[in-house]
Amino acid sequence: MRPRMPPPKRQELTTHLGSPAVEDYLEQIHNLIGQKGYARVVDIAANLKISQASVTNMIQRMDTDGLVVYERYRGVVLTEEGRRVGEEIARRHEVLTRLLAGFGLDPQTVHQDVEGMEHHISRATLEVLTLLMEELEGNPKLLAKLRQRMSMPAAS
Ligand code: ZN
Repeated sequence: MRPRMPPPKRQELTTHLGSPAVEDYLEQIHNLIGQKGYARVVDIAANLKISQASVTNMIQRMDTDGLVVYERYRGVVLTEEGRRVGEEIARRHEVLTRLLAGFGLDPQTVHQDVEGMEHHISRATLEVLTLLMEELEGNPKLLAKLRQRMSMPAAS
């Protein structure tokens, strides 16, 4: 069994972290830094499937907003605030993914749906889903029962 996630802190239980677009960028930058140690505009553009010019524009705005520091040759670095928000986005992504994957949905569906949902749920709803995920992961019998009741065949 996976370790339980730490309970969300009280002050996190407000609403969204930023616009969906800003959240997408922070998620990509956070992931790239986690994978490669740095985030370049060219990689962010490729992952988000948009032009490098649009990425540069947005990154400059996020720099002004204090979320990232943009250096033309070093790439994009997260500020402390940017890292905090990036980590929260990653946690939300993981909760939703684990909840859906627990039901055996195919990974591509899970990924698509998580990307579609994650920027539109409040922290209060995230807390509900986190509790559900933890209880289901700790109760394989109940999960098996629910999986049996699913009308669409699960992937595994
Ligand atoms: Zn995501």
